[in-house]
Amino acid sequence: MPMELSRGWLEIDLDAIVRNARTMAAHAGNILPMVKADAYGLGAVRVVRALEQLAPWGYGVATMEEGRELREAGIRRRVLLFTSVQMDDLAAVRDASLTPALASAASIARWTSIAGGAWHLSIDTGMSRSGVPWDEVGQLATVLRAHPPEGAFTHFHSATLDDGSIAAQEKRFERAVEALPAIPPVLHAANSGAIVRSEGTRRHVSRPGVFLYGVPVGPPPLAQPEPVVAMRARIVELRTVRAGESVSYDAAYRVERETRIATLPVGYADGYRRALGNRAHALVGGRRAPVAGVVTMDMTMLDVSALDVRIGDVATLLGRDGAERIDVAELAELANASPYEILTGLNARLPRRHQGGQ
Ligand SMILES: *Cc1c(COP(=O)(O)O)cnc(C)c1O
Repeated sequence: MPMELSRGWLEIDLDAIVRNARTMAAHAGNILPMVKADAYGLGAVRVVRALEQLAPWGYGVATMEEGRELREAGIRRRVLLFTSVQMDDLAAVRDASLTPALASAASIARWTSIAGGAWHLSIDTGMSRSGVPWDEVGQLATVLRAHPPEGAFTHFHSATLDDGSIAAQEKRFERAVEALPAIPPVLHAANSGAIVRSEGTRRHVSRPGVFLYGVPVGPPPLAQPEPVVAMRARIVELRTVRAGESVSYDAAYRVERETRIATLPVGYADGYRRALGNRAHALVGGRRAPVAGVVTMDMTMLDVSALDVRIGDVATLLGRDGAERIDVAELAELANASPYEILTGLNARLPRRHQGGQ
């Protein structure tokens, strides 16, 4: 066994990401895959190289460094930088050939004065996070007439809630776009939740994120993604704990009868959340074993009393093993976190094995 696989690892199925992207494109037409936060923790460069076969319209990132990483990997398509940067950083955004989202007369003027090239107008239709308020775009008319944007976009705040808010935000977006001196050629609004609902997709481009990485954004009959990621670790210790003893910090797991405890050499510093202790299961040999006690920084214990296991056996903390599976949504619910946090929390201490993608 290669040494890097002796502790634990992440498996990332690039072909599944590509198939999920095809599902998004079948709903939405042109897509701009969001690969911010290192493709939600799964490895942006590998993910983008796999997605290139779909010839997407471009890619979305959140930081200049993320964009630069794609450029250094040789990616030539549009890379949109969605999170605002300081004025002084705009020259570096230009130097990295990124396309910024701008929302103020001052930043638009600065961007054009440094010959920045294409940019997109960010319009706030209710998220109250970034962008020019939808009913104030008229105030930018002079600067927009002088420096028209390539694109304009907004972002939905509750695309998975089915509360009518997508339609309400779309109406605001529509009004804002009509108030521009000229309608930009590239309009975009939909995230994964809107795309599977076929809302907000009557635009030039849509911006899927979490669906690509295997997380559903609504129940069937809405489109479901294929799972993408697995987290596995090898058992490094086995012990028998006597009745009356406890397992892990705070002695929160009390052993009522003799119990077999297996130790995995991964913990919350690898992205397996502390809150999963005493709640989640792992799979060993295709069967469920409860996590015993709180998850520690570097180790996690399983109650394997019902199983026949050996040191070196592989435990699956996330993903499929035989007929059983643990998905991101299950861990998110047990950890009282969002699936986005679970994914982006799978940090780089575990080696990533990417599969497929050619
Ligand atoms: C993250 C993000 C998306 C993708 O959202 P998902 O819910 O992951 O599909 C789309 N647009 C913007 C501006 C984003 O920041």
